[in-house]
Amino acid sequence: MKIAIMTLFPEMVDGILAESILGRAQKNGLLEIRSYNIRDYTLDKHRHVDDYCYSGGAGMLMQAEPIWRCYQQVLADFGIEDQEGMDGVPVKVLYMSPQGEVFRQSTAVELSEEECLIFLCGHYEGVDERALELLHARPVSIGDYVLTGGEMPACIMIDAIARLIPGVLGNSESPVGESFTDGLLEHPQYTRPEEFMGLRVPDILLSGDHKKIEQWKLEASLARTKERRPELYEEYLATHKLPKKTKLPE
Ligand code: SAM
Repeated sequence: MKIAIMTLFPEMVDGILAESILGRAQKNGLLEIRSYNIRDYTLDKHRHVDDYCYSGGAGMLMQAEPIWRCYQQVLADFGIEDQEGMDGVPVKVLYMSPQGEVFRQSTAVELSEEECLIFLCGHYEGVDERALELLHARPVSIGDYVLTGGEMPACIMIDAIARLIPGVLGNSESPVGESFTDGLLEHPQYTRPEEFMGLRVPDILLSGDHKKIEQWKLEASLARTKERRPELYEEYLATHKLPKKTKLPE
Protein backbone atom coordinates (compact mmCIF):
# COMPACT_ATOMS: atom_id res chain seq x y z
CA MET A 1 0.00 0.00 0.00
CA LYS A 2 1.16 3.52 -0.78
CA ILE A 3 0.22 6.24 1.68
CA ALA A 4 0.75 9.98 1.27
CA ILE A 5 0.26 12.43 4.10
CA MET A 6 -0.28 16.07 3.21
CA THR A 7 0.55 18.22 6.23
CA LEU A 8 2.16 21.45 7.40
CA PHE A 9 4.13 19.49 10.02
CA PRO A 10 5.70 16.43 8.38
CA GLU A 11 8.10 15.89 11.31
CA MET A 12 5.09 15.14 13.51
CA VAL A 13 4.18 12.07 11.48
CA ASP A 14 7.56 10.92 10.11
CA GLY A 15 9.02 9.92 13.47
CA ILE A 16 5.99 8.02 14.71
CA LEU A 17 5.40 6.09 11.51
CA ALA A 18 9.06 5.08 11.07
CA GLU A 19 9.08 3.10 14.34
CA SER A 20 8.16 -0.44 15.38
CA ILE A 21 5.85 -2.57 13.24
CA LEU A 22 5.08 0.10 10.64
CA GLY A 23 8.78 0.92 10.31
CA ARG A 24 9.50 -2.78 9.72
CA ALA A 25 6.68 -3.02 7.14
CA GLN A 26 8.21 -0.13 5.20
CA LYS A 27 11.66 -1.74 5.28
CA ASN A 28 10.08 -4.98 4.02
CA GLY A 29 8.39 -3.17 1.13
CA LEU A 30 4.83 -3.92 2.29
CA LEU A 31 4.09 -0.29 2.88
CA GLU A 32 5.32 3.00 1.50
CA ILE A 33 4.53 6.09 3.55
CA ARG A 34 5.57 9.54 2.41
CA SER A 35 4.78 12.88 3.97
CA TYR A 36 4.43 16.05 1.91
CA ASN A 37 4.91 19.51 3.37
CA ILE A 38 2.04 21.58 1.98
CA ARG A 39 4.13 24.72 2.57
CA ASP A 40 6.51 23.56 -0.19
CA TYR A 41 3.66 24.03 -2.67
CA THR A 42 2.68 27.62 -1.96
CA LEU A 43 3.31 30.27 -4.60
CA ASP A 44 3.33 32.98 -1.92
CA LYS A 45 6.76 34.60 -1.66
CA HIS A 46 6.51 34.58 2.16
CA ARG A 47 5.51 30.89 2.08
CA HIS A 48 2.11 31.67 3.63
CA VAL A 49 -0.36 28.81 3.46
CA ASP A 50 -3.25 30.31 5.45
CA ASP A 51 -5.43 33.40 5.54
CA TYR A 52 -8.39 34.92 7.38
CA CYS A 53 -11.85 33.37 7.03
CA TYR A 54 -14.38 35.28 4.92
CA SER A 55 -16.93 34.44 7.61
CA GLY A 56 -14.92 36.40 10.17
CA GLY A 57 -13.46 35.26 13.48
CA ALA A 58 -9.91 35.26 14.75
CA GLY A 59 -8.67 31.95 13.32
CA MET A 60 -6.74 31.30 10.13
CA LEU A 61 -7.78 28.86 7.43
CA MET A 62 -5.51 26.76 5.23
CA GLN A 63 -5.75 27.96 1.64
CA ALA A 64 -6.89 25.76 -1.22
CA GLU A 65 -4.10 26.44 -3.72
CA PRO A 66 -1.08 24.93 -1.88
CA ILE A 67 -3.20 21.88 -1.04
CA TRP A 68 -4.29 21.49 -4.65
CA ARG A 69 -0.71 21.80 -5.92
CA CYS A 70 0.57 19.39 -3.29
CA TYR A 71 -2.15 16.90 -4.29
CA GLN A 72 -1.03 17.11 -7.93
CA GLN A 73 2.47 16.14 -6.84
CA VAL A 74 1.15 13.18 -4.82
CA LEU A 75 -0.80 11.93 -7.83
CA ALA A 76 2.27 12.28 -10.04
CA ASP A 77 4.39 10.36 -7.49
CA PHE A 78 1.73 7.65 -7.29
CA GLY A 79 1.85 7.44 -11.08
CA ILE A 80 -1.79 8.55 -11.34
CA GLU A 81 -2.61 10.89 -14.17
CA ASP A 82 -5.97 12.21 -13.04
CA GLN A 83 -8.51 12.01 -10.26
CA GLU A 84 -10.02 8.83 -11.65
CA GLY A 85 -6.90 7.05 -10.46
CA MET A 86 -5.37 3.74 -11.41
CA ASP A 87 -7.63 1.42 -13.42
CA GLY A 88 -10.44 3.95 -13.16
CA VAL A 89 -10.67 3.61 -9.37
CA PRO A 90 -10.76 6.99 -7.65
CA VAL A 91 -7.93 7.58 -5.17
CA LYS A 92 -9.33 7.93 -1.69
CA VAL A 93 -8.46 11.20 0.00
CA LEU A 94 -9.25 11.22 3.70
CA TYR A 95 -9.59 14.60 5.37
CA MET A 96 -8.88 14.48 9.09
CA SER A 97 -11.83 16.33 10.58
CA PRO A 98 -13.85 16.39 13.81
CA GLN A 99 -16.87 16.81 11.53
CA GLY A 100 -16.35 13.48 9.75
CA GLU A 101 -17.74 9.99 10.27
CA VAL A 102 -16.08 8.40 13.28
CA PHE A 103 -13.24 6.04 12.35
CA ARG A 104 -13.94 2.48 13.53
CA GLN A 105 -12.32 -0.93 13.12
CA SER A 106 -14.69 -1.55 10.20
CA THR A 107 -13.35 1.63 8.51
CA ALA A 108 -9.81 0.34 9.01
CA VAL A 109 -10.75 -3.00 7.42
CA GLU A 110 -12.38 -1.26 4.44
CA LEU A 111 -9.41 1.07 3.85
CA SER A 112 -6.79 -1.68 4.30
CA GLU A 113 -7.96 -3.05 0.94
CA GLU A 114 -6.96 0.11 -0.97
CA GLU A 115 -3.75 0.34 -2.99
CA CYS A 116 -3.22 4.06 -2.36
CA LEU A 117 -4.50 6.41 0.31
CA ILE A 118 -4.00 10.13 0.76
CA PHE A 119 -4.37 11.75 4.18
CA LEU A 120 -4.99 15.48 4.38
CA CYS A 121 -4.22 17.03 7.77
CA GLY A 122 -5.85 20.32 8.67
CA HIS A 123 -4.47 22.85 11.14
CA TYR A 124 -5.62 26.17 12.63
CA GLU A 125 -9.35 26.63 11.82
CA GLY A 126 -9.20 23.90 9.19
CA VAL A 127 -9.16 23.95 5.39
CA ASP A 128 -10.86 26.04 2.69
CA GLU A 129 -13.94 24.01 1.70
CA ARG A 130 -13.04 24.25 -2.01
CA ALA A 131 -9.89 22.16 -1.48
CA LEU A 132 -12.04 19.42 0.04
CA GLU A 133 -14.47 19.59 -2.88
CA LEU A 134 -11.73 19.44 -5.50
CA LEU A 135 -10.02 16.47 -3.84
CA HIS A 136 -13.35 14.66 -3.24
CA ALA A 137 -12.08 14.35 0.31
CA ARG A 138 -13.93 12.09 2.73
CA PRO A 139 -13.99 13.66 6.21
CA VAL A 140 -13.06 11.18 8.95
CA SER A 141 -12.84 11.85 12.69
CA ILE A 142 -11.14 10.00 15.53
CA GLY A 143 -13.79 11.10 18.02
CA ASP A 144 -16.00 13.88 19.29
CA TYR A 145 -13.36 16.32 20.47
CA VAL A 146 -11.28 18.97 18.72
CA LEU A 147 -7.50 18.69 18.33
CA THR A 148 -5.03 21.29 17.09
CA GLY A 149 -4.26 19.39 13.90
CA GLY A 150 -4.91 16.30 11.81
CA GLU A 151 -1.43 14.80 12.21
CA MET A 152 -2.20 12.63 15.23
CA PRO A 153 -5.51 11.40 13.78
CA ALA A 154 -3.68 10.50 10.54
CA CYS A 155 -1.06 8.48 12.47
CA ILE A 156 -3.78 6.70 14.42
CA MET A 157 -5.73 5.77 11.31
CA ILE A 158 -2.62 4.72 9.38
CA ASP A 159 -1.53 2.48 12.25
CA ALA A 160 -4.96 0.83 12.47
CA ILE A 161 -5.15 0.35 8.68
CA ALA A 162 -1.58 -0.75 8.01
CA ARG A 163 -1.53 -3.49 10.66
CA LEU A 164 -4.36 -5.22 8.75
CA ILE A 165 -2.34 -5.50 5.53
CA PRO A 166 -1.34 -9.16 5.11
CA GLY A 167 2.24 -9.69 6.31
CA VAL A 168 2.54 -6.46 8.30
CA LEU A 169 1.96 -8.22 11.61
CA GLY A 170 4.13 -11.22 12.37
CA ASN A 171 2.43 -14.53 13.31
CA SER A 172 2.81 -13.76 16.99
CA GLU A 173 1.03 -10.41 16.51
CA SER A 174 -2.02 -11.64 14.61
CA PRO A 175 -5.19 -9.46 14.69
CA VAL A 176 -7.42 -12.58 14.96
CA GLY A 177 -9.62 -12.49 18.06
CA GLU A 178 -8.79 -8.89 18.90
CA SER A 179 -11.32 -6.40 20.19
CA PHE A 180 -13.91 -5.34 17.56
CA THR A 181 -12.78 -8.01 15.05
CA ASP A 182 -16.00 -9.97 15.54
CA GLY A 183 -17.90 -7.35 17.52
CA LEU A 184 -16.77 -8.06 21.10
CA LEU A 185 -13.97 -6.72 23.29
CA GLU A 186 -11.16 -9.19 23.82
CA HIS A 187 -11.14 -11.28 27.01
CA PRO A 188 -8.63 -10.55 29.84
CA GLN A 189 -5.15 -11.94 29.17
CA TYR A 190 -2.36 -13.25 31.42
CA THR A 191 1.29 -14.24 31.09
CA ARG A 192 3.82 -15.77 33.48
CA PRO A 193 4.09 -16.09 36.45
CA GLU A 194 0.98 -18.08 37.42
CA GLU A 195 0.67 -16.02 40.60
CA PHE A 196 1.66 -12.39 41.20
CA MET A 197 1.05 -10.42 44.41
CA GLY A 198 -1.49 -13.06 45.47
CA LEU A 199 -3.41 -12.84 42.18
CA ARG A 200 -3.67 -16.11 40.25
CA VAL A 201 -4.22 -16.78 36.57
CA PRO A 202 -7.72 -18.36 36.20
CA ASP A 203 -7.32 -22.16 36.67
CA ILE A 204 -9.08 -22.95 33.40
CA LEU A 205 -6.29 -21.26 31.42
CA LEU A 206 -3.76 -23.64 33.01
CA SER A 207 -5.91 -26.74 32.40
CA GLY A 208 -4.76 -27.45 28.82
CA ASP A 209 -8.40 -28.18 27.88
CA HIS A 210 -8.67 -26.16 24.66
CA LYS A 211 -12.43 -26.46 24.27
CA LYS A 212 -13.05 -25.20 27.78
CA ILE A 213 -10.52 -22.41 27.30
CA GLU A 214 -12.31 -21.29 24.11
CA GLN A 215 -15.64 -21.24 25.96
CA TRP A 216 -14.06 -19.29 28.86
CA LYS A 217 -12.65 -16.75 26.39
CA LEU A 218 -16.07 -16.23 24.79
CA GLU A 219 -17.85 -15.81 28.13
CA ALA A 220 -15.14 -13.47 29.46
CA SER A 221 -15.42 -11.38 26.26
CA LEU A 222 -19.20 -11.22 26.61
CA ALA A 223 -18.91 -10.13 30.26
CA ARG A 224 -16.30 -7.48 29.53
CA THR A 225 -18.23 -6.11 26.54
CA LYS A 226 -21.51 -5.98 28.48
CA GLU A 227 -19.82 -4.07 31.30
CA ARG A 228 -17.78 -1.62 29.21
CA ARG A 229 -19.65 -1.29 25.92
CA PRO A 230 -23.27 -2.34 26.47
CA GLU A 231 -24.33 -1.13 23.01
CA LEU A 232 -21.81 -3.46 21.33
CA TYR A 233 -22.96 -6.32 23.55
CA GLU A 234 -26.61 -5.89 22.53
CA GLU A 235 -25.63 -5.68 18.87
CA TYR A 236 -23.55 -8.86 19.18
CA LEU A 237 -26.38 -10.81 20.83
CA ALA A 238 -28.78 -9.67 18.12
CA THR A 239 -26.50 -10.76 15.28
CA HIS A 240 -24.67 -13.87 16.53
CA LYS A 241 -25.72 -17.37 17.53
CA LEU A 242 -23.96 -18.46 20.71
CA PRO A 243 -23.08 -22.07 21.59
CA LYS A 244 -25.96 -23.55 23.68
CA LYS A 245 -23.85 -24.00 26.80
CA THR A 246 -22.83 -20.31 26.91
CA LYS A 247 -23.50 -18.63 30.27
CA LEU A 248 -24.51 -15.05 29.63
CA PRO A 249 -23.18 -12.39 32.03
CA GLU A 250 -25.61 -11.16 34.72
N1 SAM B 1 -12.79 24.57 12.94
C1 SAM B 1 -12.89 23.14 12.95
C2 SAM B 1 -14.27 22.72 13.45
O1 SAM B 1 -14.82 23.41 14.30
O2 SAM B 1 -14.76 21.67 13.01
C3 SAM B 1 -11.82 22.52 13.85
C4 SAM B 1 -10.46 22.70 13.31
S1 SAM B 1 -9.25 21.87 14.27
C5 SAM B 1 -8.80 23.09 15.42
C6 SAM B 1 -7.85 21.82 13.22
C7 SAM B 1 -7.67 20.52 12.47
O3 SAM B 1 -7.42 19.47 13.39
C8 SAM B 1 -8.82 20.04 11.62
O4 SAM B 1 -8.84 20.66 10.38
C9 SAM B 1 -8.53 18.55 11.53
O5 SAM B 1 -7.64 18.25 10.46
C10 SAM B 1 -7.86 18.24 12.85
N2 SAM B 1 -8.75 17.62 13.84
C11 SAM B 1 -9.18 18.19 14.99
N3 SAM B 1 -9.96 17.37 15.68
C12 SAM B 1 -10.03 16.21 14.98
C13 SAM B 1 -10.69 14.96 15.18
N4 SAM B 1 -11.46 14.74 16.24
N5 SAM B 1 -10.52 13.99 14.25
C14 SAM B 1 -9.78 14.22 13.15
N6 SAM B 1 -9.13 15.38 12.90
C15 SAM B 1 -9.25 16.36 13.80
